[in-house]
Amino acid sequence: MKVLKFGGTSVANSASIARVMSIVQQEEQCTVVVSALGGVTDLLLQAMEQAAQNDDNYTTVFPRLEERHLEIIKGFIPAKSQSNLISFVKVELNRLETLLDGVAMLQEITPKAADKVASFGEHLSSTIIAAVFRENNIDVRLFDGRDLIETSIQNNRQIIHWENTAKKVNNLYASSTAKVTLVPGFIAKTSKGENTTLGRGGSDFTAAILANILEASSLEIWTDVSGMFTAHPKIVAQANPIAQLSYLEAMELSHFGAKVIYPPTLQPLVEKNIPVYIKNTFAAEDKGTLITKAKSTLNGEVVKGISHIDNVSLVSLEGSGMVGIPGFSKRLFEALSIEKINVIMITQASSEHSICIGLRSEDAQRAKEIIDEEFAFEISLNKVDPALVENDMVNVAMVGDDMKNHQGISGKMFSTLGMNNVNIRAIAQGASERNISIIIAKKDTHKALNCLHEAFFEENIKQLNLFVIGVGNVGSKLMEQIHQQQQYLQDILQLRIRVIAMANSRTMVLSNTGIDLTSWEAALAQGEKSEVDTFFAHAKKLNLRNSIFVDNTANEAIATEYKRYLENNIGVVTCNK
Ligand code: ADP
Ligand code: ASP
Ligand code: MG
Repeated sequence: MKVLKFGGTSVANSASIARVMSIVQQEEQCTVVVSALGGVTDLLLQAMEQAAQNDDNYTTVFPRLEERHLEIIKGFIPAKSQSNLISFVKVELNRLETLLDGVAMLQEITPKAADKVASFGEHLSSTIIAAVFRENNIDVRLFDGRDLIETSIQNNRQIIHWENTAKKVNNLYASSTAKVTLVPGFIAKTSKGENTTLGRGGSDFTAAILANILEASSLEIWTDVSGMFTAHPKIVAQANPIAQLSYLEAMELSHFGAKVIYPPTLQPLVEKNIPVYIKNTFAAEDKGTLITKAKSTLNGEVVKGISHIDNVSLVSLEGSGMVGIPGFSKRLFEALSIEKINVIMITQASSEHSICIGLRSEDAQRAKEIIDEEFAFEISLNKVDPALVENDMVNVAMVGDDMKNHQGISGKMFSTLGMNNVNIRAIAQGASERNISIIIAKKDTHKALNCLHEAFFEENIKQLNLFVIGVGNVGSKLMEQIHQQQQYLQDILQLRIRVIAMANSRTMVLSNTGIDLTSWEAALAQGEKSEVDTFFAHAKKLNLRNSIFVDNTANEAIATEYKRYLENNIGVVTCNK
């Protein structure tokens, strides 16, 4: 049996659910795991925050949720049969309202209440999708994830109670002969019978747990992109799907931020050697990514992907009192572990004079307090300094099983970043050498990911990013030539020229990934009011590699702009006027 999991974007509305249905209809007996409708979990959690802050806006969530769910019911179910489902939605939303009113009254969010609120999304989506499947003659049986998956607490952490979960799954499946078993992802129950959830993005994990227990022939994760990409596809426009990955590579990429798989997902699959496919619901024929045990050396690529974690902070503990004293790091990490603070990255120079850790920004302040308390005595004797927190950082990881057998990868990584003025704040490379991680300033994320991607995956094609002012005679000729020569430049000179922003004295267009040169005149005519400061701020904020400010005017005021572009590592080209 196969397990198929459809994420929030795949079940966001009736049009996407129609696609899900056409994929499921081609399957033999299978289990289908669904998320909440895209964005619904965010809405629920946001409403809960508002309620806790006594912000009445939380009540706006009810009509929004009603509208989202009724759109699907009305899209598939004939009017005469809708009433049961509509009243189901209304009853559930009333229960949600009672809960949120309670949160508003107490002005406090307990973990139990949070899980209860968050679980509405999958409960609603799975019930409605089951009805839609039935309406379309799919032989479906709906189980509640809470009747299947049980969690328990071990060492202060919530983990899956595998034995009880397996019993429940096997019992329920034994009672059903349906062709399609539909299960809401994300939601579970604790051994005490309380509602719980498996963490944000946890529907992937539900699917993996079921695949393990059912010994599925494969797990297919259906989402809105055609596989695991070489870098975040929304940040690196040139990123491509990776055809094949090993479990360890995929785990490493997901742990370091590739959100397309929830990090704990792969573990239960490794154990039973179950292949995973990442597929695109909106382009089902695309090959996607296959993840198996096998080390893949497809295309001879050594680095398989680059992933990154936003909102990281660096916390450093420094001082002469640390040198040569055993147990210092043990105390540091034990103190953090007791408080359940997850460390992303660790570096310690061999001088032992400082330890530096990367962690999620939301944990940074608490980590500082814990560390300062743990080392209060040493701090009072000036043997170590109070922990130093630096925010607005990003962790970037390059991943590949075979990196250890190739020299020069870190060298290339560092020189690429150095040439692009990206300062590296901390570096870590595990002995497995499957991963090289660095921490950089958040403002450099876009540039760093794009230039690393270019160096490791595009190598031959260099990209120039133009910010053009002046599109009169000279400027418009320049646009025409760039457009005409695009293919030639790419094929013969390995150069891709993108016009990111353009302006004349009246209007300007500011894009993030390049203006379409077949219709730039129309875009400019409808552009916003031209303004040199905003134009400059855009170039500075994008911080793209190989940025060039092109001045086609003969305007002295524009020439005074050069200084600030040059100061921000943006080249300047002026025409001979
Ligand atoms: P779903 O709702 O299907 O679970 P998610 O939003 O959790 O989908 O994950 C898919 C998203 O992950 C993509 O839309 C993409 O923006 C993001 N993403 C981040 N990094 C990567 C990557 N390396 N490869 C593919 N997608 C990625
Ligand atoms: N709906 C949950 C979330 O948004 C689980 C999931 O979609 O995987 O986090
Ligand atoms: Mg997801």
